[in-house]
Amino acid sequence: MKEILLDKLVPFLDAELRLSDFSDDESANGLQIEGRATVRKAGLAVDACDYVFRKAAEKKIDFLLVHHGLIWGGLKTLRGMMGQRIKTLLDSEISLYACHLPLDWHPEYGNNAQLLKLLSVKKMGEFGRYHGRNISYWGRTSKEYSLDEFTARIDKVLNTRSAAIGFGRKVRTVGVVSGGGWFAINEAEKYGIDTFLTGEPSHSAYTLAEEMKVNLIFAGHYATETLGVKAAGKVLQKRFGLTVEFIDHPTGL
Ligand SMILES: [Zn+2]
Repeated sequence: MKEILLDKLVPFLDAELRLSDFSDDESANGLQIEGRATVRKAGLAVDACDYVFRKAAEKKIDFLLVHHGLIWGGLKTLRGMMGQRIKTLLDSEISLYACHLPLDWHPEYGNNAQLLKLLSVKKMGEFGRYHGRNISYWGRTSKEYSLDEFTARIDKVLNTRSAAIGFGRKVRTVGVVSGGGWFAINEAEKYGIDTFLTGEPSHSAYTLAEEMKVNLIFAGHYATETLGVKAAGKVLQKRFGLTVEFIDHPTGL
C-alpha cells in the first residue's frame, strides 16, 4: 500500500489546485483540520458533514478532500453540531482539506471544466464573475441540440434530474456555473449564450432568462459539484498511488 506524508501532500495540492489565486474566497481553502501524519487512503466528498465524516472513519480514510469545507469566514465556536463534526474527525485522526472556488474554476480539474468536457462542449472562454474573478467557462457544442436533448445528456452524465425552462432557442452556446451560480445569467448576452446551466434553481433567474431568451437548466447543486473532487482524486491516485474513494451523499438539490 502506497503512502505519503501529509506535509508533502498538502503543499502539492495547494499548488496544483492553485489556491493562492483565490485568496479572498470565504472558504478557508486548504488543510482545515490536521489528522494523521501519513496518508494511505484519501476520501472525496462534496460536503463536509457528519454523514461523510462517519463514513470516512468507517472506511479508514486518512485524508478527506471536499468542495464545501467546514471553516468559512464566520466560524466562531466549536459547540453543538460543529463541535460534534470536528470531534468525529479528530477522534479518527482524519485530515480535512477544502477546495471551494479554485475547484469551480480550475481549467482542468474544476467542476465546470469537467462538466463541459463530459458534455462535449468545447471551452471557449472564462465566464461567471464572482468576487472579482471568473469561476467558470462558456463553450460551444459540436452540433445543435434541442433543449430536451441537451437536458437528457446532462441527466445521463450527472445521474440527476434537471429542471429545464426553454425560451425558444436551440442549444449551441452554453454558459455553465456549478452549484449556486444563477447570478451569471447576467453575462449571457455578453457571450452570446443561448443556454445557461447551473446547479440550484433560482426564481430570480426566470424573468432575466425570459427577457434575454436564454434557456435555463438547473441540474442540482450537488450533482454539478461532484466532478471536481473526483478529478482531484484521480491526481492523487496517479501521482502518489493512493487508494481513493468517493463518498456519495446526494442531497437531491
Ligand atoms: Zn457549491
